[in-house]
Amino acid sequence: MPYVHDTLTRLKQSSPAQSEFYQATEEVLECLRPLFEQYPHYHEHGIIERIVEPERQIMFRVSWLDDAGRVCVNKGYRVQFNSALGPYKGGLRFHPSVTSGTIKFLGFEQIFKNALTGLPIGGGKGGADFDPKGKSDNEIMRFCQSYMTELHRHIGPTRDVPAGDIGVGAREIGYLYGQYKRLTSRYEGVLTGKGLDWGGSLGRKEATGYGAVYFAQNMLAARGDDLHGKRCLVSGAGNVAIYTIEKLYELGAHPITCSDSGGTIHDPDGIDLAWLKQLKEVRRASLEEYPSERPKARYVPVCDYPHGGHHIWQIPADAAFPCATQNELIDIDAKAMLANGVACVSEGANMPSTKEAVDLLLDAGIAYGPGKAANAGGVATSQLEMAQNSSMEQWTLEQVDQKLQQIMADIHRQCAETAAEFGAQTNLVLGANIAGFRKVADAMIDQGLT
Ligand code: GLU
Repeated sequence: MPYVHDTLTRLKQSSPAQSEFYQATEEVLECLRPLFEQYPHYHEHGIIERIVEPERQIMFRVSWLDDAGRVCVNKGYRVQFNSALGPYKGGLRFHPSVTSGTIKFLGFEQIFKNALTGLPIGGGKGGADFDPKGKSDNEIMRFCQSYMTELHRHIGPTRDVPAGDIGVGAREIGYLYGQYKRLTSRYEGVLTGKGLDWGGSLGRKEATGYGAVYFAQNMLAARGDDLHGKRCLVSGAGNVAIYTIEKLYELGAHPITCSDSGGTIHDPDGIDLAWLKQLKEVRRASLEEYPSERPKARYVPVCDYPHGGHHIWQIPADAAFPCATQNELIDIDAKAMLANGVACVSEGANMPSTKEAVDLLLDAGIAYGPGKAANAGGVATSQLEMAQNSSMEQWTLEQVDQKLQQIMADIHRQCAETAAEFGAQTNLVLGANIAGFRKVADAMIDQGLT
């Protein structure tokens, strides 16, 4: 299929330093080959060439003053990738590693993820190379205000609706919203993940983690299994990891790990969730301080792990939930997990597994839920927040959670049915990519050449 190859070659040439973006596009386009063979009209409409090109990319300077009165400058981004299905929707990531390539890869993944939710949302992503670590509340506020001073002219509740991601939680959404309101005099659903007293949705904070666990439940149910009694590896210690751990406990599973940029906690008795919430949501401190009264717990600093890969994935377990960041799970990790008996992987993070790791997990035939399907619960619940904002309603936690469970079951069903349609039974990567792509591509064809 020369046009898939040609598109990827062109992309590599035109975006030479954007390896994550290239990785994400290559995975999607390679999965689409059987679809293109059966349905040549996607090629005739130039969908492949168009879908890898963002509709609009905004890059801007963010200048702010630190507490010592020094001028600081960061790069801000918003990529409005695809609006075929609805207003651009996707989070903002504040992390020093952020580049335009990072935001492009995240925006590209978001298109298909959002399509899989079945809700009317297009794909976008934004962020900045700002490092929130070690900053005071006032510094975070000044940064967010400066960031929104530029961003506000590009967004709106029916245009582009940002939310949180790594480094952007309730506190940052608050400061961003306050500044938007001040600049526009409008009180409207322009951001999601808002505080519960000022337009937020019950269940949004929990949704990505809960959703990743519901997705695992669906994958296991299809194999006549469940999560009860399973030892689970969870990476990360942010919003996604915390609520993955919470839901795993509720379902009778044993989450035994978590990690942050400094290291990994392995507690065979189960992670102390109340402590973790206090540490990360209130004190914003490092995992190093894990309570000494947990006798079996061990803390392994990142730098002490000599074999490459990540210590967390070498720990024997039954299921794994990568909830930290992209490419955190590499080939030797996948090999170790499979050798140790992991039979279910549900990705709470975006693209946490490298291509080589994905291939190993797929070849092993285990239950593997790729991020764009398994972590779609967060953005799906964001859309539920938008729906509540525009109808001026507030739904109960039960209503939101019930919808979330239904959405995750539907996503799993679509991925499994689409995989089966193309003869790739257990391959939910192929199922997710084709099912998501088809909706977006068909809408693009209906809407003419844009
Ligand atoms: N950042 C989340 C994601 O990767 C949520 C996006 C949103 O709620 O708009 O899907």
